Amino acid sequence: MEINQNVSLKDLNTFGVEAKAKYLCHIRNLQDIESLFEWKNNNDIPNLLLGGGSNLLFKNDYDGLVAKVSLMGKDIAEEDDEAVFVSAAAGENWHDFVLWTIEQGFAGLENLSLIPGCVGAAPIQNIGAYGVELSNTFHSLQTVNLDNGDIQEFSKEHCQFGYRESYFKSQTLDKLLITSVTFRLPKKPEWHVNYAGLREALAGEILSADVISKAVIAERQSKLPDPRVIGNAGSFFKNPVMKVSDFEALKDTHENLPGFPQVGNDDVKTSAGWLIDQAGWKGYRKGDAGVSDNHALVLVNHGNATGSELWQIAEDIMASVEDKFGIRLEPEPRVIA
Ligand SMILES: Cc1cc2nc3c(=O)[nH]c(=O)nc-3n(C[C@H](O)[C@H](O)[C@H](O)COP(=O)(O)OP(=O)(O)OC[C@H]3O[C@@H](n4cnc5c(N)ncnc54)[C@H](O)[C@@H]3O)c2cc1C
Repeated sequence: MEINQNVSLKDLNTFGVEAKAKYLCHIRNLQDIESLFEWKNNNDIPNLLLGGGSNLLFKNDYDGLVAKVSLMGKDIAEEDDEAVFVSAAAGENWHDFVLWTIEQGFAGLENLSLIPGCVGAAPIQNIGAYGVELSNTFHSLQTVNLDNGDIQEFSKEHCQFGYRESYFKSQTLDKLLITSVTFRLPKKPEWHVNYAGLREALAGEILSADVISKAVIAERQSKLPDPRVIGNAGSFFKNPVMKVSDFEALKDTHENLPGFPQVGNDDVKTSAGWLIDQAGWKGYRKGDAGVSDNHALVLVNHGNATGSELWQIAEDIMASVEDKFGIRLEPEPRVIA
């Protein structure tokens, strides 16, 4: 395993912010994982596991080892009467993997088309879009523990998936390296098309995974800024979830406050984008750091913004939304100090 020193991370994060890694290596196979394990145990400095860099904000240079996970491979692991089980290695591009499952004639991942990043990071925040989360079709994943070298398999119940949450995000960051993920894709698919934007686009269509995937792609391309054109990490804040009583109290003073009742409890999710928009931040720009003109939830790098300039805007937004609505927003991407 080759370790390079003082490497720019600008092309390895979708915000496109300049930050230097003290050390950087690529993990391409089992031997590299072993070398990483040894290196970690002989060097007392932090390490960061990196996928596509689409859910991270580097505030500063990283004074440790960045390990870019580039394990490749995908296959149909097994099949029974009701489902097929497909696996992909952590470094596979998520969207390419989704398209590959559709090409194989399988359904279940179509709503998650065009989400940037790699397969190995997808369970970390239980990626979700258009009414579907990764947990809907997740079967299991494999990890290597970088502290002791143990290989472990996690089934769904051990992953503690929640809204943009998992056991791995809350407890084991940079310690458990996810090597591969397996999905259970049902042979009798259930379509999820009752989501604003998708419903209208698909009215009258004969539904299939391919048709839904294409509609999701078109919808996303029309709404979300492309990181290849303008640096961003998608939604920068989670949508706040609150008790129905708190939601109703807030609605007394803000009658247009959007609310989405949650299944299985009496919580209501509201829209972080709406709150930020109402607080007057949409289209805000200071230097090269700003908020998207079209999407109040997306922070953007117009060119040479630094991570700390973007983070300053995030902090100002959080303070202003809290001041106006009494709600503390929570960042969705990982902020690396
Ligand atoms: C334009 C845009 C749109 C987006 N839309 C959505 C959306 O609709 N829904 C959604 O949920 N997300 C969305 N995201 C966020 C992002 O794409 C996802 O969170 C994605 O899963 C991140 O993958 P990544 O490989 O880029 O992870 P990274 O940003 O590289 O890493 C994210 C986290 O995972 C950890 N990690 C990465 N790989 C591994 C591994 N192999 N083992 C252990 N830990 C690992 C990292 O340490 C870090 O904590 C969007 C982002 C952008 C830029």
